[in-house]
Amino acid sequence: MSKIALPGEAREESDFEGVPPELLTERTDEFRNLLLSERGKLLQNAQRTLTQDMTIDTDDLADEMDHATSDYNQALAFRLRGRERHLIHKIDAAIERLDEGEYWWCDDCGAWIGFGRLRARPVTTVCIQCKENRERRERSYAR
Ligand SMILES: [Zn+2]
Repeated sequence: MSKIALPGEAREESDFEGVPPELLTERTDEFRNLLLSERGKLLQNAQRTLTQDMTIDTDDLADEMDHATSDYNQALAFRLRGRERHLIHKIDAAIERLDEGEYWWCDDCGAWIGFGRLRARPVTTVCIQCKENRERRERSYAR
C-alpha cells in the first residue's frame, strides 16, 4: 500500500513511517467536522450571551429593534472578543492548515503530531515534544 510521503528536510528525520492517503482523507473530513462543530458552539455561546443582554435591557430593546441587522452583527462581533474570538481564530487557522495538508505536522520540528494528540487538542500546531520544550522555555523565562 502506498504511503503519504514526508516532504521537507525535518520530516526526513522523523521516525514516522507514513499513513495510507485514504486514511488521511478520512481523517481530514473527521477533523474538519470536529473543528466546525467547535466553531459553531463558540458562535452559539456568543449569540446566547448577546440575546440575554438584550432581553435584560428592555428599555433599550425597542431601540435595538429599530436598528438594522448590521448593528446586531456588529454587537455580536464586539462580543466575540477575548477568549472566544481567540479560539475561533485558532480554529480557522487549523481548518486552513487542514485544507493545505499542513495540519498533521509540527510547526516547530516538522514531525507527525499524531491523531491521538490532535483529537485531544484539535487546534494544536506542535507535537508533544515541542509543546513540552516551549513550556520549559516559558517556565525558565518566568523565573
Ligand atoms: Zn515538534
